Amino acid sequence: MSSLLAIAAPILAVVVIGAAAAYHRLRLAVWAAVTATALVACWLLGANAVATAIAAVVVALIAVPLLLPQIRLPFITRPLLGFYTKILPTLSETEQVALEAGTVGFEGELFSGKPDWQVLLDQPKPTLTAEEQAFLDGPVDELCRMTNDWEITHVHADLQPELWEYIKKNRFFGMIVPKEYGGLGFSALANHKVIQKLSSISTVVSSTVGVPNSLGPAELLMHYGTDEQKHHYLPRLADGREVPCFGLTGPWAGSDATSIPDFGIVTMGDWNGARVVGVKLTFEKRYITLAPVATLIGLAFRMYDPDGLIGDKRDIGITLALLPADTAGVDIGRRHFPLNSPFQNGPIFGREVFIPLSQLIGGEAYAGKGWQMLVEVLSIGRSITLPSTSSGGARMGALVTGAYARIRKQFGLSIGRFEGVEEALARIAGNAYTITALAESTAAAVARGENPAVPSTIAKYHCTEMARELVQDAMDIHGGKGIILGPKNYLGRAWQASPIGITVEGANIMTRSLMIFGQGAILCHPWVLKEMKAAALPDPDERLREFDRNLFGHIGFAISNAVRALWFGLTGARFGKAPGDSYTRRYYRKLNRYSATLALMADTSMLMLGGKLKFKESLSGRLGDVLSNLYIASAMLKRYEDQGRPVADQPLLAWSFHNAVHKSEIALSGALRNFPIRPVGWLLWVLVFPWGRRAQAPSDRLGHRAAALLMSPNEARDRLGEGAFLTPTANNPAGRINSYLQKVILAEPVERKFLKALKSADIEALDFRAQLDEGVREGWITAAERKQLEELREMVIDTISVDDFDAEELRAAGYRSEPAENRAAA
Ligand SMILES: Cc1cc2nc3c(=O)[nH]c(=O)nc-3n(C[C@H](O)[C@H](O)[C@H](O)COP(=O)(O)OP(=O)(O)OC[C@H]3O[C@@H](n4cnc5c(N)ncnc54)[C@H](O)[C@@H]3O)c2cc1C
Repeated sequence: MSSLLAIAAPILAVVVIGAAAAYHRLRLAVWAAVTATALVACWLLGANAVATAIAAVVVALIAVPLLLPQIRLPFITRPLLGFYTKILPTLSETEQVALEAGTVGFEGELFSGKPDWQVLLDQPKPTLTAEEQAFLDGPVDELCRMTNDWEITHVHADLQPELWEYIKKNRFFGMIVPKEYGGLGFSALANHKVIQKLSSISTVVSSTVGVPNSLGPAELLMHYGTDEQKHHYLPRLADGREVPCFGLTGPWAGSDATSIPDFGIVTMGDWNGARVVGVKLTFEKRYITLAPVATLIGLAFRMYDPDGLIGDKRDIGITLALLPADTAGVDIGRRHFPLNSPFQNGPIFGREVFIPLSQLIGGEAYAGKGWQMLVEVLSIGRSITLPSTSSGGARMGALVTGAYARIRKQFGLSIGRFEGVEEALARIAGNAYTITALAESTAAAVARGENPAVPSTIAKYHCTEMARELVQDAMDIHGGKGIILGPKNYLGRAWQASPIGITVEGANIMTRSLMIFGQGAILCHPWVLKEMKAAALPDPDERLREFDRNLFGHIGFAISNAVRALWFGLTGARFGKAPGDSYTRRYYRKLNRYSATLALMADTSMLMLGGKLKFKESLSGRLGDVLSNLYIASAMLKRYEDQGRPVADQPLLAWSFHNAVHKSEIALSGALRNFPIRPVGWLLWVLVFPWGRRAQAPSDRLGHRAAALLMSPNEARDRLGEGAFLTPTANNPAGRINSYLQKVILAEPVERKFLKALKSADIEALDFRAQLDEGVREGWITAAERKQLEELREMVIDTISVDDFDAEELRAAGYRSEPAENRAAA
């Protein structure tokens, strides 16, 4: 051995074995034993004795105190417990409830830094029952056929009576209500598919059906209702005798819903001719979906018992009640007008409205538990309604925009052939692929019985954000066709309505900055919640022991993630165990890298910032983006596997995957560059990006392939449109345009031949039909080709034409009959 090697060998042995042990997460005792053996081997092979001895002492100094509980517990764990208690973020009761409500599924693996992909891949492929499929093919299809979105949004500002009747009669409002109560008893997946299909033709119809099947009276009754309440209300809700709404939001409490000022005082009152104990409610709610037509109001209020009628607690807390809309003192029926998307929505007022305690959801036993009840079931509805609405719109938007970009020609070319348009089309294709995978994955999680708190916020936020981007791109590609409203416009209303999804069910800025990472870091992290629980144990000995166990698990975890992040960064994540085929294996490896990076960043942020982290919304939002994109990419890979690894989908998968990874790196670099403690940010940068930020946005070549898939019929395109209502009916202009694609493409060679002949010939006819006559006469086209060109002309006209109106038709109906001076006087 050379003298340099003799000195370096023991040091190298310690470093390499340490790194390998951390990478593979070996136990401390195993690491110590392997290192000791290696040092003995070094010494026997002639390594420098002093260097070997120093290395051995260092290893012993680390291993002995950590391996001996007699030293570790009093001298290491106890002081760390004191420090931990100081930096521990204080959880409000609301946050505590939210954390306890959620379950952790595959997303927990993403926080582990070493995801076990089998957990994801072993999840059963989501499937519908025959009955659910029959409902989709029957009543749902029929409702789509009956829907005329223009009539709804412009003429009636409401669903027509026959639609309301059809919805109620076919129990669309009772999809989630179990069969024993007269509902359809559908799975969350079926609920998702129904909303998805409806939203592809009208978001007014889909939200009208979606809301009663989301957070509201039915869901709350199923979980908490007394038997009497369930037997009375659930059958009535299922068949539409009762139309529900749920009122939480008011002028003084929007995002901060726990601060509602609405109150109910426990008192005696009259109900159905008897004198009973109940609550007198005073409230002001706004933005309440279905309120103007509701017969049954689910109401959130704060309950007080100043006279001690039901106990000794004065402020009982947030409570939920069922309030028949015709109860004396309830003022309901006026409407808001949400961005020309006139689903029923309006305010509700109540002054000293008396209801008996039996109207509290769950009865008196659940008084004061309202917030917990809401949070416990919130994830279920949030996983379905808005992601499914986005998914239906995205499927339809992608297909019709692809068809339009092929059919619409400018400068002698399909507009989709221009690179600028192609870029927007590729984004549409990728966003549609991503949204649909994400929406289905959260619906499937609910269908498996999970309460996916974190995925539901990811899906709600990202599906609505991507849908907004998608519809904006679609509008740009459609030009004036998207702008001129009327029966022929299938985009304008969706574009107008896109901010609604952004705002409801947890406004997006708050969802991103506070909730995704905030909940994820505690709920999904393998150690943090356990440490917090251990630190809160009442018995000091048990507290110390439990905390010790979790703390050292956590420290090992953190070291492992630092090593893994650096290793993956240095090697470009080219190595490591990963599932998938030769096409997707590199994707899984990349996700292994970002999982380790996320875990490292999460731990460092929590350690450095403690309770202050929750006020650092920029950091939390960016780490939330990393978690979200990891989850989104996993959902896409799972879908790719479930669909049998279709080669035709690869451009869509690749575009969406690179987009997600690129967004993750942008978020990571933003988090590191702006890390509140700058030197820590610099240090982390070296571990996370040892060669700098490398991920690129999807390339133009890939974009070209993804965009091309939308512009001609193929199996990948069909799969993307699956579940949207594509039947080309009179009320479905998007379905019609989509149906033209194949025929238009078949006619293209004839059209080219004809246009070429027209250009080169000295032709006199200016009118299209006369030109065709001449074409046949001159022998440029056959009679059959002439027919084909005539049909093409019809299809193009239907595709590009827009509506116009008589001036009177556009005036709001309510003002038409009244002269302006009367209105002013009123
Ligand atoms: C069409 C429609 C239908 C609705 N349906 C119902 C219904 O059926 N029942 C019901 O009870 N409610 C309903 N809502 C209410 C909806 O849930 C609220 O609008 C939503 O909670 C936001 O409240 P806000 O509009 O008062 O906005 P605000 O709370 O005033 O928020 C304004 C902005 O500030 C941001 N923000 C607030 N706090 C934070 C924070 N801590 N960090 C970062 N950003 C923050 C928000 O993200 C948002 O961007 C509906 C709303 C609409 C518009």
